[in-house]
Amino acid sequence: MMGLLNANHEISPEPITEAELLKVHDKRYVDAVKAVSKGITIADAFAYGLGTGDNPIFPHMHDAIMQVCSATTTAVELVASGKKQRALNLSGGLHHAHKKQASGFCVYNDLAVGIERAVQNYGMRVAYLDIDAHHGDGVQWLFYDRAEVMTISLHESGRYLFPGTGHTYETGKDAGRGMSVNLPLEPFTEGESYLEGFEAIVPEVLHYFKPDLIVLQAGADMHRFDPLADLALDISAMHKSYQRVTELADELCEGRLVATGGGGYDPYRTVPRAWAGLWAALSRQDLPPEIPQGWLEAWQEQSPVELPLAIPDNLETWKPIPRRAEIESHNRFTAKRLMNTLEPIWKEL
Ligand SMILES: [Zn+2]
Repeated sequence: MMGLLNANHEISPEPITEAELLKVHDKRYVDAVKAVSKGITIADAFAYGLGTGDNPIFPHMHDAIMQVCSATTTAVELVASGKKQRALNLSGGLHHAHKKQASGFCVYNDLAVGIERAVQNYGMRVAYLDIDAHHGDGVQWLFYDRAEVMTISLHESGRYLFPGTGHTYETGKDAGRGMSVNLPLEPFTEGESYLEGFEAIVPEVLHYFKPDLIVLQAGADMHRFDPLADLALDISAMHKSYQRVTELADELCEGRLVATGGGGYDPYRTVPRAWAGLWAALSRQDLPPEIPQGWLEAWQEQSPVELPLAIPDNLETWKPIPRRAEIESHNRFTAKRLMNTLEPIWKEL
């Protein structure tokens, strides 16, 4: 409706094989997912995280999530092979899935499958940047001992939010020492403090690592309206962070950037505005500030909340966050502590 997306932008995913999925996930786990997808009851489903409140079993679950993995891997393939400079898969971003366990709405880790394609088929060094409000734990642990993949996650502190990890001291192990980077932020962190933390960490870390490709998990749950997380960003701050990632990709790896969606639980007001900006940044188009009238008419009826009329939030109508200065100084301190933890490790390497 904004005219930013046309048929030329869309590409059908190339299916991945099960062998490619098994580069990331344990075979017994994949077999368990396949069994429950067919309605077969298995004794250890719960141990695999299947059939829980977060990860309900549904028919054709295996095939459905294989398609998500195929789409992210296709995006990586297009960019790694040089056919496209940037690619986006909004259905992807299942960052909580572990080697042999489903977690937090995530069954297979499409991000890790895509990253392995770039590492194994193209010999690339991949920087994974996760700006979802929740820690990107699944991707972090899958690459925790690998030197060729750096994982960076900015999230609401695990002291307050699922999955509870993502502390500054989680810095990687063995060959992956110093390659895991976590900036846990205070609840109610606003856009300005978020971007300050981003600038204090992300450019320096990426310059140190020198990636060939950046994979961005762009969950949209760090907005103030999101009901699952407690960060308090506005849309413009989120758009600024997307913009910065594209600039860093231009600076460091000839623009090579693959982005996915992720969380986002305010589906009417926040996610469409956030990801319209993500697409505009990736496709190097300007995002108009107005929301098309036709879109509002189409969705207002279904939306349980009143839809905003413009892309930027009207911050004047937002109540000030109490303890703002304390939150900002705490985040500043955490960013400093993180760099003080990483720099000595990097010097030793
Ligand atoms: Zn999330």
